[in-house]
Amino acid sequence: KHHFGLLKESSQETRLAFLPQEVKKLIEKYEVVIQVEKDYGLRANITDAEYISAGATIETKAHILQKANFILSINDVIEEKDNVTPHTTFIGIYNTLYFSERLEKFKKLQAKVYSLDQLPRTTLAQAMDVRSSLDALSGYKAVLKATELYAKVFPMITTATSTLQPAKVLVLGAGVAGLQAIATAKRLGAIVHAFDVRKAAGEEVRSLGANFIEVEGNTEAKNSGGYAVEQAEDYKQRQQDRINEQLQSTNIVICTANIPGKKAPVLIDENAVQNMPSGSVIIDLAAEQGGNCSLTKNNETITYNSTTILGNSHLSRELSKAASQLLSANYFNFIKHFIEKGEENELIKATQVINQE
Ligand code: NAD
Repeated sequence: KHHFGLLKESSQETRLAFLPQEVKKLIEKYEVVIQVEKDYGLRANITDAEYISAGATIETKAHILQKANFILSINDVIEEKDNVTPHTTFIGIYNTLYFSERLEKFKKLQAKVYSLDQLPRTTLAQAMDVRSSLDALSGYKAVLKATELYAKVFPMITTATSTLQPAKVLVLGAGVAGLQAIATAKRLGAIVHAFDVRKAAGEEVRSLGANFIEVEGNTEAKNSGGYAVEQAEDYKQRQQDRINEQLQSTNIVICTANIPGKKAPVLIDENAVQNMPSGSVIIDLAAEQGGNCSLTKNNETITYNSTTILGNSHLSRELSKAASQLLSANYFNFIKHFIEKGEENELIKATQVINQE
């Protein structure tokens, strides 16, 4: 019988991997046992009573770690003092492709680990695609953050005496987060430009009513699963010149450019920031993997000259309810697939980052 445990996340994590609604569905469908650590849902305003009425029981962390064969969480929730039963299966979003050191602890615990950020971007996997869920929310929130830090307005505003010009926004990287940022900035009335190394992104950018910055000669690898690959030097130079030129008239930059498992490409250097109009704002969602701006500090907001630079790769934490709702549905679909198709299924295997029997 499958026995699941939900453990509380560390203090900076506000999102939940699994909500009462999905607890109920999973118990009804597969007769599983689900144990929840006391106060698990509090950060997203969900009470223990709601988990109990969904069919779960409330237990201590020690008890759950002893009994459960599956632990569901977003981040690594295991501390040094914890006693983990060997062969426990952990399901989370660990980004071990970039932070490979995160695997060491799990190896010592003789755990099996599935990291949902490794799901392929296929039609079948879409229902479980946690990265798309979180990126969409982060892209949206990035623009709202920018509106707060920007001392001027996004839309054109005309009064009897004056006209305030609309903000000029540049979105770097037009994947899931970037497209959501473009759509949000457009709705607020800004003039939006976007850039991506993938040519296919151009059409999506234009369909949102934004301008796509074309740079000829990009490399598109056939077997990268639709992700960006590192670019040749001469292309990088032309791309850089074009971005620098654009930045001189840009008030807001939303940085989302990433290459899976690699350091994020640096697209804005110190000099380029200096040449931006005064009072500009940069929101760098690639901060955790080094950032698209060379001045970005992860989890900090700094000011350089008069430009504000916010580095945060987890802005969806500020939308805890929405993020939890999307994540919980993704986790449910993953577990359903796991139970019905088994460990040898291709999609399940793609997410397996440690297998210790
Ligand atoms: P990502 O988070 O890895 O990167 C964000 C964007 O940055 C990407 O569009 C990438 O091309 C771009 N980028 C990388 N290096 C750059 C550089 N030097 N300059 C400018 N831009 C750069 O990507 P993502 O948002 O996860 O999306 C990756 C791909 O997967 C996209 O093609 C997306 O449409 C696709 N996708 C497919 C599905 C599905 O079919 N199930 C789901 C989600 C995403």
